[in-house]
Amino acid sequence: MTQKMTPSTKSDCIFCKIVAGEIPSPRVHESEDFIVIRDIQPQAKKHLLVIPKKHVANLLEVPTSEAPGIHAGLLATAVAAAKLEGMDSQGFRTVINTRDWGGQTVHHLHLHVLGGEPLAGRFA
Ligand code: 5GP
Ligand code: ZN
Repeated sequence: MTQKMTPSTKSDCIFCKIVAGEIPSPRVHESEDFIVIRDIQPQAKKHLLVIPKKHVANLLEVPTSEAPGIHAGLLATAVAAAKLEGMDSQGFRTVINTRDWGGQTVHHLHLHVLGGEPLAGRFA
């Protein structure tokens, strides 16, 4: 990644605790700036979460100067994890929920990767 991310954590954030190892959660994949874990309530046979190590609440809160690195990193890490999990041949779905109307429940930016089976609908 060309753009270095500024470290940031939030003490009451569950994903910051997972990133810090304070809450155990096996990592499917990890890079310098991102971790990939399995969703605790999977909505598909395979359901991964790509999480930046830096605390950013949601897409709207990504600092402009860091947007290229975070946006590209989220997608590149999702593709890498999907390949590791064997989701590249048949395909998968990526979702980012933003704030309450977008259905966001954990307010630390993350990208869902769903697959491992044919998915119902086109957006859910
Ligand atoms: P959101 O609703 O914010 O888009 O997605 C948050 C996701 O995080 C949900 O799918 C939820 O199941 C998952 N989640 C919440 N807490 C934990 C946790 O402690 N561990 C893991 N692995 N996933 C979690
Ligand atoms: Zn956080």
